This record gives sequence, structure tokens and C-alpha cells, in this order.
Amino acid sequence: MRVLAVGGGAREHAIVEALARSGAEVFACLKNNNPGIARTAKGHLLVDEHDVHKVVAYAKASGVELAVVGPEGPLEVGLADGLNKAGIPTASPTQSAARIETSKSFMRNLLSRYRIKGAIKFAIVDTPRELEAALDDLGMNVVVKPTGLTGGKGVKVVGEHLTTKQDVMAYGEEVLSKKIGGSARIVLEEKLVGEEFTIQAFCDGRRTVPMPAVQDHKRAYEGDNGPNTGGMGSYSQKDGLLPFLRRAEYDAAVEIMNDVVAALKKENAEYRGAMYGQFMLTKEGPKVIEFNARFGDPEAMNVLSLLNSDFSRICEKMAHGGISTNDAGFMAKSSVCKYVVPEGYGTKSLAGEEIRVDEVAMSREGAIIYYASVNEKDGKVYTTTSRSVGIVGVSDTIADAELTVERALRHVSGRIHVRHDIAKKDMLDAKVARMNKIRGEHT
Ligand code: AMP
Repeated sequence: MRVLAVGGGAREHAIVEALARSGAEVFACLKNNNPGIARTAKGHLLVDEHDVHKVVAYAKASGVELAVVGPEGPLEVGLADGLNKAGIPTASPTQSAARIETSKSFMRNLLSRYRIKGAIKFAIVDTPRELEAALDDLGMNVVVKPTGLTGGKGVKVVGEHLTTKQDVMAYGEEVLSKKIGGSARIVLEEKLVGEEFTIQAFCDGRRTVPMPAVQDHKRAYEGDNGPNTGGMGSYSQKDGLLPFLRRAEYDAAVEIMNDVVAALKKENAEYRGAMYGQFMLTKEGPKVIEFNARFGDPEAMNVLSLLNSDFSRICEKMAHGGISTNDAGFMAKSSVCKYVVPEGYGTKSLAGEEIRVDEVAMSREGAIIYYASVNEKDGKVYTTTSRSVGIVGVSDTIADAELTVERALRHVSGRIHVRHDIAKKDMLDAKVARMNKIRGEHT
């Protein structure tokens, strides 16, 4: 089967590898010359991924029978709609269904209208006066979010990024006047306390098939310090849970995702594709932080490295309907992913620098390599402003997988930065202890 994959990051490299593993001939549309995708795909086009007309034309010219879109930007401008209309079934949501990510106000309203568990207190405000009234109502224990897409960088948490009411008002006024995220609208929401985790699910408009839970690390520096980033690394545990996450809590989060898919169907916005649920595990169980209308990056690299079912078939079923739990099996292994990023990533990335990646040596260490936002030119790999290479280890234990990644990292050089603390025992033990304390239990 011929399949189109859109996007040029490590998430998309993982998607392309999973498709190729299941026998698909992959054609790719991407903006950067990602050497991993270029090598595995039968053909590729360097193009602005938001240019629906050009991507659809390439898909038709390549004779693809199915498409998968990696990033959220193209979904927001209706790429899945364009592909579907051109007769190419697409395992990614339409513009309308993708509002679950592209409009935080839509998402919060949906949860509250359908009384879905995991909903939290929030207010949607369009003017400084409404913001002030909402702050009086909700108090200062809040998070300020532009309603639209900001690449994870528009969210400001009181107590971390903002301190006083004046700070909140000043940031709110900036979002409203500059239309940060694309519109003059803010979601103000209750600040949650707990541990964050991600569940991704394959959805066919009606049913959801959940994947193993993953925990990402958004902060740029060790010890969860520094600016928020797209994600510095992630891990998963062989039983599908996480050291601090119990079965009943995982099940409660999956139920929330099922309810969201059912609600979207009722809204005539059937959700087809991978759905990403970001949850805060609180004293009262999992609460919704956000949904993404796609795989997470880096989380896609964890789950797709573990998937031992036919990914093309899964994508076909997401697009056409009829998915069931039998379609998606995962190895009973743990996984760790660490991102190699350019020096300065999170504030001012050092772009255009050569990095040397000894793939042969890394494979010998047992690691899997996914190229991200890099460009290959004359056999050399150069950084951009975004993340460079995702390194994944798969093993029985998180500790072993982490060691695999660290051994492999010795074979990457250049002006790079890595968070070595991700998935190390001390960090995991601290998370378990913190979560037990929040639950009111002793360790
Ligand atoms: P988002 O772009 O919505 O995922 O937000 C980025 C980050 O901000 C999340 O990963 C959380 O760490 C934090 N965050 C977002 N919403 C909340 C909330 N309601 N309470 C506490 N932290 C939050």
C-alpha cells in the first residue's frame, strides 16, 4: 500500500519507520531535509506542510491510498479535509475534530457540556475587564492560556511564570492585544497539582484503542528547570503504566478519552486518528490538561518503537472505521527517549551547526535513532532552531533502556544539549514519593 506521511520531525520519522515496517511504500511531504525520512520513503517533497493544495497534488501524483499527518499546524488549516475530499482516506482528524487541540476554549466547553470526568474550573475571556472578573472569581491559583496554538510556549502558570495579579493582567492584555495563538481569547483555568502523564489512543471516529502511558519532560534543563520546550525526553514502563501511575488511574484517563470521542461524534466532528491526552494525576484522580489532535513528540517515539502490530492496517482502520483492541499490540518492554537538541534550545537555539551522529555505533549499542528538525546537506547533518535527534532505548526495565540511550549518546557530538536526568532512578523515586504524598499515603 502507498501511504503519504506529512511532517519532518522525529515523530514523523517514527511514523514513517512504523509504516515501512508494515510493508507500506511511504511518500513524504516535509519542510526540512530529514535524512531518516528521506532514506526510508520511496519519494519525498520539500514543501510548506501547510500548503494544502501542494500536498494534495503530491499525494495524488504519488498514487497514495492513505495519508497520515504528523503535526498540528496542517490539521488546523484543513489538510485532512483536503486529502479526504481528494479521495485519500486520512488517519488524522479534520479541521473540525482537531479543534480539540487548536481551540482550548472549544475543548473546555466540550468537557463541561458533556459533563466529562476530569473537567476543571475555567473561564473564557475576551477582554481585560472579563479577565479581572474571572480572576476575582477563580482566585490567583490559575493558569493563563491563549486559546489557540502556541507550540506549548504560550501557557503561563501563576507561581512559576507569573506572580502577582498585575503580572496576570499584563500577560492577559498582551495575549489579547497581540492575538497570541491567533485570536484575542484566553482560557483561564484552575492550577492543578500532581504528576503529568500522557495517554495516546488510536481512534476511528467511534472507538478508541489506548496505547501505553508515557511521561514527557517539558523543561529545558535538568531537575525540571528552565523554559518550557516541545519536550526533552520521555519514558514508558513495560506494563503500560508508569512508576507513579496505577491501573485504575490509567483506566480513568482512558474513559475520559472514550467520552471525548463520543462527544465529538455527537457534535458531528467524528475523530479519526491518533489522539493525545495530557493529564495531571491529582489527589482526585486524572484531570485534563490538554488534548492534542495527533501523536505527541517525543511520546510517539516510545509507543511506535514498541508497536508490534501492522501500523498501516491500524491507520487504514482509523481512517475507515472498525478498529479494535486486537489491531494494536505492544511489546511488553520499557522505553526511554532522550532528545539531542541544539545548544540554547528553549531560549535561542544555535541553528545551522553541524552535528555528527555515528548511527552504526549507536545501533551497536542497541539504540533506535529518529532524526528530527535537522537538514542533511552533502552527507552532513545540520541543526535548525528546533530539536535534532531522538534516541530511544527499549528494554525490560526503564533503568536498562535508560542505560542504552546514555551509551548511544556517546556517539553524537557537536554543540548540543541533552537532559541526562530523564528516567534516572532518583528522578523516578522522587515522583513516586511525591505522588504518594499527594494521595495522602506514606512511602
Ligand atoms: P499545555 O500547552 O496546555 O500542555 O500546557 C503546557 C504545560 O503547562 C503543561 O505541560 C503543564 O505543565 C502546565 N499546565 C497547563 N495547564 C495546567 C493546569 N491547569 N494546571 C497546572 N499546570 C498546567
